[in-house]
Amino acid sequence: MIQFKNVTKRYNDGMTALKGIDLEIKEGELITLIGPSGCGKTTTMKMINRLVEPSSGQILIGGKDISLINPVELRRNIGYVIQHIGLFPHMTIKENVAIVPKLKGIAKDTYEKRIDELMEMVGLDPSEYRDRYPSELSGGQQQRIGVIRALAAEPSIILMDEPFSALDPISREQLQDDLIQLQEEVKKTIVFVSHDMDEALKIADRIVLMQGGEIVQADTPDRILRRPKNDFVRTFIGGNRLNESEQLTVEDVMVSNPVTVSLTRGLAHGAKLMKQYRVTSLLVTDKHRHLKGIVTKEMLEEQYRNEDLTLQDIMKSDVPTILVGTGVADAVELMREHGLYSLPVVHPSGLLAGLVTNSSLIDALLKQI
Ligand code: ADP
Ligand code: MG
Repeated sequence: MIQFKNVTKRYNDGMTALKGIDLEIKEGELITLIGPSGCGKTTTMKMINRLVEPSSGQILIGGKDISLINPVELRRNIGYVIQHIGLFPHMTIKENVAIVPKLKGIAKDTYEKRIDELMEMVGLDPSEYRDRYPSELSGGQQQRIGVIRALAAEPSIILMDEPFSALDPISREQLQDDLIQLQEEVKKTIVFVSHDMDEALKIADRIVLMQGGEIVQADTPDRILRRPKNDFVRTFIGGNRLNESEQLTVEDVMVSNPVTVSLTRGLAHGAKLMKQYRVTSLLVTDKHRHLKGIVTKEMLEEQYRNEDLTLQDIMKSDVPTILVGTGVADAVELMREHGLYSLPVVHPSGLLAGLVTNSSLIDALLKQI
């Protein structure tokens, strides 16, 4: 476990980069530090391997204060991947990856086998690539080697500072997938800096969102999406994920063939339709399919004994409706306000277009994620 205890950092020029950070990173957790440029992500990360020293506060790894550990020793047990990984151009891929395992005195057979395994895990055939030079690999492949290099020495912690952000979108997606898969197998503690919320949402067990040297929210991706702590978090999420519904109109989320019944039908017919389609309310329409009212199961049951009645006698006619083209957010608001489980969508003429229901809303939302 990595613990930050009230850690501050003031650089020599007086810049306060971190303002009393408290953070616990569990063993085997992939945590993403995210936030706008200059918020202190890299500073936070570099303190873990003592590339930056705190001005005050304490950092513990496995309960041990790292200011008491020799920095060189510390770094051998912490993998580090940066944006431009800087493979040594005159060394082959295998030689590049072997540097730290060698330094750590791991047996040659052991690390060579491990390097091959890791290359296979990220889809680079070892027999084809291990003896190549870095310049013979694409940017994405080189970055994969950077990840492997960090893993080859079997560190318990890996620090990754925007490792994929210089790559094209397709390579970036692939490396993210690789990382997820690698992490399933190796279960390291990974601290991953990113400025890309999509990336963080995709890979992180927990997201730590920072602003101006402080932690604003540290939570699982799902809780960040569902319960953004404030407007900053909301803006950073980008208002285009769960909230994408706001750009949709009611037609995008409605059922377009809701169960309808004609005004003049009797109550028994209404009851039969409800049973048949497993619904608890019916939209009552005239012969031009204009919406006239709604009949619920309760209304039917209450009046059922009266055999002379038709649906128009018992229906509720002043039901809330919403016009086609209206935003989904307005529909949700209206449903909440009136405590409705469903809301008919109509054309300006009164012609029925469809029905928004709680479950049609959920279906539409799920399709977007
Ligand atoms: P991030 O990685 O989130 O972009 P950094 O941790 O690199 O942010 O930087 C946080 C703040 O500290 C920034 O304002 C940056 O300019 C400042 N800073 C970073 N490194 C130094 C340094 N070596 N000397 C002075 N100021 C620095
Ligand atoms: Mg940075």
